[in-house]
Amino acid sequence: MYFPCKDHPSDEPNEGVDMKITIPANLVVAGPGLLMSVKTKKNKSTYHWKTNYTISNYCILFNIGKYNVAKDTYTTIKGNKVPIEYYVLEADTAQAKMVIELKKRDTKILEKYFGEYPWAKEKIGIAEVPNSGMEHQTMITFDNKFKYKTINGQQYSDNLFHEYAHEWWANKVTNKDWAHMWIQEGIATYAEALAMLELGGEVAYNTMIDGHRRGVKNRKAMVLGDEITEEEVYSGGDIYGKGSFFMHSLRYLIGDEVFFPTLKSLATNPKYTYDNFVTTDDVEKLFSTSSGKNLKPFFDFYLRTTDVLDVSVKEIGFQKYQIKVNNFFMPLPFDIIANDKINKVIIPAEGIIINSIFSPQIDPKGFYLKKITIY
Ligand SMILES: [Zn+2]
Repeated sequence: MYFPCKDHPSDEPNEGVDMKITIPANLVVAGPGLLMSVKTKKNKSTYHWKTNYTISNYCILFNIGKYNVAKDTYTTIKGNKVPIEYYVLEADTAQAKMVIELKKRDTKILEKYFGEYPWAKEKIGIAEVPNSGMEHQTMITFDNKFKYKTINGQQYSDNLFHEYAHEWWANKVTNKDWAHMWIQEGIATYAEALAMLELGGEVAYNTMIDGHRRGVKNRKAMVLGDEITEEEVYSGGDIYGKGSFFMHSLRYLIGDEVFFPTLKSLATNPKYTYDNFVTTDDVEKLFSTSSGKNLKPFFDFYLRTTDVLDVSVKEIGFQKYQIKVNNFFMPLPFDIIANDKINKVIIPAEGIIINSIFSPQIDPKGFYLKKITIY
């Protein structure tokens, strides 16, 4: 099959897409948007799927299988009723109810942080596939083999949640170039940590963030410059975990009262969504404006280099220590434990001196990627 298109994220058909797929009548086609008609002639059926929304070309896709369709309805945060359709393989039909229940719960979490489900005029769609899944708009695919984690007594699937978070981060908020792919993958991965925050509180959130941190390779910067290939962007591997950890650091740096509304505004402001595209600079400018801080050095450090903060703790006198960040000069807040007390302290470029009985502990909860040297 040939599909003529400009194979670049900045090219989306604004008026949507029609797809007509003819298959043997014993099979079913799952596609994006609305199912306009199914016409059966002799032993063949033609499925007409139509989406009226702007859509990334890699989401213009369909799956064919021996599917049953499990249905339900979801009421969005704005009160719109959206059909839920789960294209489940016939053999797995008994699992459908559970998947749909999780999907409703996950929608609530995603709407809380990122605003209303983006495709409310069409559907919430899921199709079971035999691969790791993909964020196909209004028909995300997944294959978790119906295995779930239990978080605080509640069932949860990373695979299902991650692909679903892409309805906001990738499908609604789309990066303009492969170079900025961390926005889609990093924030969708960070969304998984927010699911933990909802289901299991800060402890579950921190456990997941710590996993993201441990996965950071720092072999290549996350943003390597425009006009690079998709393969080059994905080959470093850090756009997922380091992208998520970057959001975690940013949350600490600017505080929850600025971070969460700004993240939501990135996902809801027409300037950044649907027909429009985003770059790393757009994200930085938005967070800089809302926090009243010039965050460009911080964005550049995390996203355009593989460096980590180089922090030194030097004993310079009796119970006196100098703490300094040696390779980054924007004042940053740090949690410091000194004399058994934890304080959030701003460390300026020239460093600070604190009094402490023992060598102070810097950033014990791990808000930054860093290396600490104690002299
Ligand atoms: Zn992803």
